[in-house]
Amino acid sequence: MIKIPFKNESIRIPKRYKSLIDEINQFEKLFQELTDTELRSKIFELNNEYQKHQDLNNLITRSFALTREASVRTLGLRHFNVQLMAGLVLNNGKIAEMKTGEGKTLVATLPASLNALSKKGVHVVTVNDYLANRDQVSMGQIFRFLGFNTGIIQSGMTPIERKKNYNSDITYVTNYELTFDYLRDNIEFNPQNIVLPAFNYCIVDEVDSILIDEAQTPIILAEANAIESPEKYVFASEITRYLEIDTHYKIDEKNKNVIITELGVEQVEKITQTETLFDRENPWMSFITNALRAETLFFKDINYIIQDNRIVIVDEFTGRIMPDRSWGEGLHQAIEAKEKVPIHPKSTTVASITYQNFFLMYPKLSGMTGTGKTSEVEFDKIYRLRVETIPTNKPIQRKDLPDLVYKDQFSKWNAIAKFCNNISSTGQPILIGTTTVEKSEMLAQLLSEYQLSYQILNAKPENVRRESEIIAQAGQTNSITVATNMAGRGTDIILGGNINFLIQKELYNILVFAKTELTKIQLKKNSDNFSKIVNLLNKLEFENQFFQSEIKLFEYFKARSIIQQNQSKYQKLIQTLQSLTKCYSQKFFSVLLSVINDEKFLKLSDINILRILQENDRIAIPTLSYQCAIRFMLNDLKSYFQKPHNQESQIIKNFGGLCVIGTERNESRRVDDQLRGRCGRQGDPGLSRFFVSLDDNLLRLFGGDKIQNFMGNDLLDNSPIESSVLSKSLTNAQKKVEERAYQQRKTLFEYDAILNRQRNIIYFERKILLNKSSIESDILGYGEQLICNFLTNQQNKTFNILEISKFFEYLLHRKIDLKLLERLKEDPNEMNIEELKIYFFQEFWLSYEAQLDIFSIFGEGLDIFRSFEKQIALSGYNLMWQDHLEKTSLLRDAVQWRSYGQKNPLTEYNREVSIMFQKQQEIFVYLTIFIILNVSIV
Ligand code: ADP
Repeated sequence: MIKIPFKNESIRIPKRYKSLIDEINQFEKLFQELTDTELRSKIFELNNEYQKHQDLNNLITRSFALTREASVRTLGLRHFNVQLMAGLVLNNGKIAEMKTGEGKTLVATLPASLNALSKKGVHVVTVNDYLANRDQVSMGQIFRFLGFNTGIIQSGMTPIERKKNYNSDITYVTNYELTFDYLRDNIEFNPQNIVLPAFNYCIVDEVDSILIDEAQTPIILAEANAIESPEKYVFASEITRYLEIDTHYKIDEKNKNVIITELGVEQVEKITQTETLFDRENPWMSFITNALRAETLFFKDINYIIQDNRIVIVDEFTGRIMPDRSWGEGLHQAIEAKEKVPIHPKSTTVASITYQNFFLMYPKLSGMTGTGKTSEVEFDKIYRLRVETIPTNKPIQRKDLPDLVYKDQFSKWNAIAKFCNNISSTGQPILIGTTTVEKSEMLAQLLSEYQLSYQILNAKPENVRRESEIIAQAGQTNSITVATNMAGRGTDIILGGNINFLIQKELYNILVFAKTELTKIQLKKNSDNFSKIVNLLNKLEFENQFFQSEIKLFEYFKARSIIQQNQSKYQKLIQTLQSLTKCYSQKFFSVLLSVINDEKFLKLSDINILRILQENDRIAIPTLSYQCAIRFMLNDLKSYFQKPHNQESQIIKNFGGLCVIGTERNESRRVDDQLRGRCGRQGDPGLSRFFVSLDDNLLRLFGGDKIQNFMGNDLLDNSPIESSVLSKSLTNAQKKVEERAYQQRKTLFEYDAILNRQRNIIYFERKILLNKSSIESDILGYGEQLICNFLTNQQNKTFNILEISKFFEYLLHRKIDLKLLERLKEDPNEMNIEELKIYFFQEFWLSYEAQLDIFSIFGEGLDIFRSFEKQIALSGYNLMWQDHLEKTSLLRDAVQWRSYGQKNPLTEYNREVSIMFQKQQEIFVYLTIFIILNVSIV
């Protein structure tokens, strides 16, 4: 039997939090008595206290109690005691591990309000734009009530919008936007466009998803390069057809790499007719390796999908597509060549940072997740974050059944389909987690063979669009949902389905039906020139009741018939609506009529109608008349749906709740736990079971010899194997992979830490320049530093007056007095350095003064010069850093080989990067001074 974590439900609230929670509860009683205005004045008091003492610790319990009360008054949600504990954990700069559905979104409001008192900014980081928006809109009501303002960052926003939002007391933002804003800020030329304020406090939602899964690769801000040679990628892809596995190349599946053998090298050299694949001018090696990797290790519908003729990566952890990312170093282009889609240019890294180093910049960092314990060591070692498990509000009732292990894929998938068939016959809803798009579709086919109906949720765009709908219904009787990895989906699966979603859908259908029919009537009206006809009719009736001519009489009847036709159509629509909604109240019907009769209604698009409905769910008190009407109708519908919904929910609970099926053990236990955690929310019953096969990737690659033995024994029947050896191997295999991934991230972190020190220096210095109106003193400093360095270097060589004078003549753009240099030469090898320094300093100042004089002649010339020298220095920093990144990336690859020579690559890297950095700085100073002294007005 496999031991499964998640059994900490019996933990009680630890003593160290209990007394604080008691205190919060005491304050709650006091605050309940206060009016809204009195409550707000309490926040004002806390603000003043903070201003006086600059200490949040004395304010914790009052602030938490105020936030809880504000939540009750705005959202009708009262933080449970366990949520208060989680809030305290977050405020202590730790990770709160809370099971799915325990209300992490609400918990974040507690430490966010408290820390917002400092007015230094609080960032709540979520995994996608949708969640950031949802959480800001709903939780924003609590903050607004308390007098805090909230901001939201969404992709596509302008720098001005970003800046405004980041300046709020509390800002909701995704990790992606936040990190890119940081990188962009540090290459910006205009201080007005800097969007991020100084970092203060950060709460990361789904913290393991961001700080662990996504921290596997650095975040890269890149610029597209002109494409080198697309045909080379295509040719390399063709060449792979002439290479045989094992003879010409070997596959290293564990590291997702391909190694070309000597025979392979010869073969490619023959085909490409080149002397060597490593030729600097015409290198083939990387093209061939990437083409082979693309061919043998990266698969459509597993690692990527093709959308609009482009390769789009599928995130292996979340199952979501990542349209903004691409694989680096030519791999993406190799896959494009393989799939015969247009090849997009490779890009140059302009700036980059790892999540590890990025988030460590926050003086206070905290996080929330459903599954943090398994990565406890990494959180502690890398981020200095401790994980605390928060007890659930109600006891967990989920049953985790032991894994069933099958001998091969065929038996496993058949068993899964059969299991679904059995479970589904009782009506119990099922959620099946698969690891790839391809497998989700294969299972769907198998389910069809059993005539089971199902919904698929994977990275395919057509499915993603329906994501919230699919999840909302996944808890209904008989529903079967096949989903790829569910991490970070952020929507609850509720037993019996999500009633709010259900009623929104009902009202949406009614409104859209009414709108379509009304539009048809309106169109008819327009086509018959309806208003003209009405006027005509009025005129005719007014002119004479007894028509003088037959023609007029004829016109009169025609006009009347058109109007009657339209009226009867309208009546018919009303009747249809009445029959559609006959089970709802009479008031519902009259409110519906008032909404559809409003002339603005016809102008709404379907999307707008949907938005209004969804928005209504999030506003506390409707203020506009249409909001009130919609709220009324939704509430009315709820009263009709609630009872059957409760009954269905109870029936499903009696069945045993949601049944979660895992179709293979994931590479990380955490991801398995995330899937399991989808059922049994808030004390509901639930069931989880994993189906495993001996030839699953995890066991095949990391299972060890014992698994091979099992596979060797010709197991003929299809029944599952239960063996302690197997169970242990599975867990060990997962641990091995986790350890491997951790080591990779640790190495990435260690290498980036070296670069990080330099990045901090560069960004710090650059920021100082950016905020200055004149950088004259810096330029003078650079020049003097340059002169000193040059002369000190010369000291170690034989003095060569010509060399020295040439260098300075070129740099300073002026004649150097050779005679004076001769005079300063005390003996053939010695120069009086101090005197030389003074001489060149003076020459340098004179050159600089001369530039100022030249530019001052023109009207605004001096201002132009000031701005020019600043731009030169700022872009110098950008280019220096870009170049440094490129060189250090090559160096990182190069030092790996030195481990064969008993040298530690990291130490080697550290040593050489420091030297490189110094060189880069020297080049930067030289180029800046050179350009400034040599620029002229044309
Ligand atoms: P998690 O992120 O922990 O999975 P969510 O923040 O999505 O959970 O919350 C799950 C559900 O629980 C939401 O519908 C939320 O409104 C509800 N909820 C959270 N806290 C409370 C509370 N104190 N009282 C009642 N409902 C709550």
